[in-house]
Amino acid sequence: MGRAVIFHGPNCPLEIARFPRPTAVGAEILVRVACCTLCKSDLHTHAGRRTQPLPTVLGHEIVGRIEAFGPRAQRRDFRGVALAIGARISWTLTASCGTCFFCKEALPQKCETLFKYGHERMGPEQPFVGGLADWVVLREGTACFHVPDAVPDEVAACANCATATVAGMLRAAGGVADRNVLILGAGVLGLTASAMACAAGASAVLVCDPDPVCRERARAFGATAAYSPDELAAGIAAATGGRGVGVVLELAGVASAVEAGLTLARIGGTILLAGTVLPTPAVPLDPEQLVRRMLTIRGMHNYAPQDLAAALDFLAGPGRAFPFETLVGQTFSLDKIEQAFEHAHGTPGFRVAVRP
Ligand SMILES: [Zn+2]
Ligand SMILES: [Zn+2]
Repeated sequence: MGRAVIFHGPNCPLEIARFPRPTAVGAEILVRVACCTLCKSDLHTHAGRRTQPLPTVLGHEIVGRIEAFGPRAQRRDFRGVALAIGARISWTLTASCGTCFFCKEALPQKCETLFKYGHERMGPEQPFVGGLADWVVLREGTACFHVPDAVPDEVAACANCATATVAGMLRAAGGVADRNVLILGAGVLGLTASAMACAAGASAVLVCDPDPVCRERARAFGATAAYSPDELAAGIAAATGGRGVGVVLELAGVASAVEAGLTLARIGGTILLAGTVLPTPAVPLDPEQLVRRMLTIRGMHNYAPQDLAAALDFLAGPGRAFPFETLVGQTFSLDKIEQAFEHAHGTPGFRVAVRP
């Protein structure tokens, strides 16, 4: 038997239920969860700020070890490296079919038959759909990756959401080497973006966050300068000789940050939006400015398998120069899940880790 934390809805107690050990059938892989970190979207769902099919098992930032293969399961990871029982793996947040319209458009995260770990209704036939459990059953169409030994569980858990999303943004920006980068928001994603942009050779990594503690932390994650929203316009003007920034990474999720990003991008600049995952007021857009300044504006939601590969390469390589372990504030056991959520809601900017 194994446990799964059932989320019935906001303001309902989390239920720790026991179910028989699942059997991996077809192309499934049974994974024993080593660690699951609570992502901000888990907290949004838990608090009722966003909805998803219920009941469910939350948790999608997961690292675990392979316990069983279904008869048709892939025995190699996405890079072609053999997978064996006991291998420590990370996997894409989503399982995609690979053949539908959006999969063929290189948008696997928008697959027409998408399955998203930690976001699906659990059923009696398969309760192990999220990371707050003893096991997760991986579906066909999930890209798996070995996790290098150098990356501790708590850091590896964040790879398949926070780190991979940032990797996808940097790829969509066409790289940041020798370009100055403005990062709006210095929470877990913003700090990750700061470190990745620094490691990728950005000429300057400029960070903005209203919280002085977040601004201070940004320096340890490679930021060249960190500004409050009030200081931002003057700071960017001074740092860029009045030209503006080449790449804006919006990870704040507030309309004012999006507006600032549109204003502060230089001619030919790219603005990538990934922070806004809840309804937000509309932002004015001046078409003439867009034309004359030749701006590119792009939204990013989740990522493709190659971005998770880049995320893991980063965490095992240049990422080790940055204090990623400090992003995880506290670790709780699965039986203390209520306390874990309570702590997570009270400590924005930090991940809370849950170990079964
Ligand atoms: Zn997430
Ligand atoms: Zn598809």
